[in-house]
Amino acid sequence: MESKIRYLQVIFNTPVNSSFTYSSDSDSLLLGYRVIAVFGRRSLTGFVISESPERPEGNYKIKPIKRVIDKKPLFGEGEIDLARWISSMYFCSLGEALSSMLPGGRRDSRSPAFDTEDPVSAVPRKLSREQEIAVEAITNFDNRILYLYGITGSGKTEVFLQAAEKVIAEGQGVIYLVPEISLTHQLTSQVRSRFDDKVAIIHSALTPSQRLVEWHKIRNGDAVLVIGARSAVFAPVINLGLVIIDEEHEGSYKSGRAPRYHARQVAMKRAGISGASLVMGSATPSLEAYYLMEEGRIIRLNLTKRLSGGAVPRNIVVDMKGSGGSLSKELIQEIKVTHEMGKQTILFLNRRGFSYFFHCRSCGWDMKCRQCSVSMTFHKKRNKMVCHYCGSETTPVSVCPECSSLDVGYSGFGTELVEGEIRKIFPNLRIARIDSDTVKKKGSLGSTLKEFREQNLDILLGTQMVAKGLNFPGVRLVGIILADSGLHLPDFRAGERTFSLIMQVSGRAGRYSKDGLVLIQTYDPNNPAISMAADLRQEEYFKLELEKRRVLGFPPWSRLFRLVFRGSDEEKVVTYAERVLSSLEEWQVEHMEILGPAECPVKKISGNYRYQILLRTSNFNGVHEAVEHLNRIASSSTVYMEIDVDPVSLL
Ligand code: ADP
Ligand code: ZN
Ligand code: ZN
Repeated sequence: MESKIRYLQVIFNTPVNSSFTYSSDSDSLLLGYRVIAVFGRRSLTGFVISESPERPEGNYKIKPIKRVIDKKPLFGEGEIDLARWISSMYFCSLGEALSSMLPGGRRDSRSPAFDTEDPVSAVPRKLSREQEIAVEAITNFDNRILYLYGITGSGKTEVFLQAAEKVIAEGQGVIYLVPEISLTHQLTSQVRSRFDDKVAIIHSALTPSQRLVEWHKIRNGDAVLVIGARSAVFAPVINLGLVIIDEEHEGSYKSGRAPRYHARQVAMKRAGISGASLVMGSATPSLEAYYLMEEGRIIRLNLTKRLSGGAVPRNIVVDMKGSGGSLSKELIQEIKVTHEMGKQTILFLNRRGFSYFFHCRSCGWDMKCRQCSVSMTFHKKRNKMVCHYCGSETTPVSVCPECSSLDVGYSGFGTELVEGEIRKIFPNLRIARIDSDTVKKKGSLGSTLKEFREQNLDILLGTQMVAKGLNFPGVRLVGIILADSGLHLPDFRAGERTFSLIMQVSGRAGRYSKDGLVLIQTYDPNNPAISMAADLRQEEYFKLELEKRRVLGFPPWSRLFRLVFRGSDEEKVVTYAERVLSSLEEWQVEHMEILGPAECPVKKISGNYRYQILLRTSNFNGVHEAVEHLNRIASSSTVYMEIDVDPVSLL
C-alpha cells in the first residue's frame, strides 16, 4: 500500500517569525507534536502547527521531517491561539512563544527549594464569615476578576482551596499560581491530601520528562487542579473554571526573558477565553491592582481578621542620621535584650543592588531628575549624577538644597560590613549570614535555617532569603538594616517596593510571638514609604502614591514600553539607539512620550553595554503598533533590541 504524503507547517524556537514546510508519511496526524527536522545545517526541534494533504504553492524542495518526538500530541489549537497572542503582545516569534509555554522548553529559575511554614490542615476548616463570603463571591459568578485583599494570616489559602474545591465539584479545572513552589512547599502536602491524585504540581525539582508526564495528565483531564509558579499559567487544563494568583504583587510573575510575559496578563487572557474567573490575593497588592480595585474593575474581597493567632509586632523607625556604623544604638540595645530573653534576631538587608547611594546625611534629601523625578544615580568615576530614564546629567551638589547641610555624599553598607560590625559588638553570639554568596554551596541555606529554627543560632543576617526564617517561633526581633537602600533605586516603583517589603517583613514577624519587634533603620524617617509602612497605614500610602504617579504620569495612569539595546561595542549600541529614536520621532505617534536613550542603571551585563528608551503612553494600541513596526524593520548584527511591554524591573 502506498503511504500518503502530508505537508506540515513547522515552527522553531528561533526569533524567525515564520513557519516552514516539511513532509511526512506518518500514519497519524501530527498537529500538536514535536518533530526533529533539518533547519539550515542543523537538526532542530520544531512544533507542528498545521498539516495538509495539499502541497503548498511554490516550486521549492520540501524535506521530510527526520523523526517525531512525542507519542501523543502536546498541544492543540487552543495553545496555538494563545501562543499567537503571546507572540504579538510581547513581540516574540510564534516558536519562542510556544516553546516557553510547553514542557521540555525552558524552566523557571528559582531560589533554592526550602520552605518553613506552619503545619497545614489536611481537611477543610470551618470558614469565618469573611472567608465564607469570599468563597461565595469567587465561585458564584463566571468570568470575573476578584481580589482577596487580606492581612497576613487571615486565611487566604483556605479560601483559595475551598473555592477550588467548589469549582472542581462543578466539573471544571483550576490553575493555582504561587511565586515559587518546591517539593516541601506547605501547599503541596495540603493539596495532595485534599485532592488526591487529581492534582498536578509543577515544582522546581521536576525533570523535563516528569514535567511532560504532568502535562499529559492535565491534558487528559486526570489532573483538574494545577499548582505551580509562573509558567503553570499555560497548563492545558480542560474546561478551565478558575485561575488563582497568590501573592499577586510578586515580581517573579513577570518573565525576565523573551517572551517577557506577565502571568497576571496571561491569566486574564485565558480566563477571558474560557469564561473562567480570576482571583488574585495578597496582603500587599501591587499599586496597579489596588488602582483597579478602586476603579471597581476588580471586585475586592476583604479579610481583616487574623486567624493564625499571634499579634502585629511593634514597628519602630530608627533615624540613622549621625550614627557612625551600620547598627544604631537602639538596634544594638534590642539585640542584647532579645538575647537575654532567650530569643532570636533576624537582620535584613535589602535584596537589590546599589547598597551605596548619594544623599544628604542630615535631612535624607536625595537628588531627583527634574524631568522624570526618579532618583539620580551617582557615578563616582565621572563625578556625575545620572538619570537613567532620560539620560540627563548634572554635577553632584556639595550643599544640600533642602537644609543647607554640607554633609552630602554617598553611604550604604553591604552584608559583609554589617557582619563584621555585629561580630565585633557581640563576640559571644552565634551569628550566621545567608545571601547569594553563601548559599551557592548546595544545601547550606536549608541547614542554616534548620540551625536557626532549632535555636542553635542567635542572629541570622542576610538578604531576602532570611525572610524564610521570619516565621520561626524563637524570633522576637527583626532589624531592617537600611530601609532606604531600595528607596533610591532609579525606578518609579522604588517607594512602593520599599513600603511593601516593610509591610511583609512586619506581617510575617508577628505570626507567632506576642511581643514581636521590628526596627526599621533609615536616613529618611519621614519618607511616607517608611513611616506609613511602620504605622501600617497601607491604603493611605496607596492613595498618596497613586496621586504622585498621576501627577508624574507613571503607571497605572500610563503604560510603558521599554526598549533595551545591548551589544559589546558601546558606540554601536548608542548609535543604534539614536537611530531608533529618530524613527520613533518621525512617526509622530499620538500620546507617546519618549524618554532616553539613556544608560541602563545596570550598564554592563556579561560584556554587553546596555542602553534604554522608555515609551510612556496613554495610547497603548498606537504605541504597540509603532513598536511592532520598529521590531520588523530593526535589524543589526551587532546590537540586540529587547522589548519589554509593561516592564516591572527598570534596572
Ligand atoms: P494568609 O495566606 O492569609 O497569610 P494562611 O492561609 O496562611 O493566611 O492562614 C493562616 C493560618 O490560619 C493558617 O495556619 C490556617 O491554617 C489558619 N486558618 C485559616 N482559616 C481558618 C479558619 N477558618 N479557622 C481557623 N484557622 C484558620
Ligand atoms: Zn539636607
Ligand atoms: Zn530624567
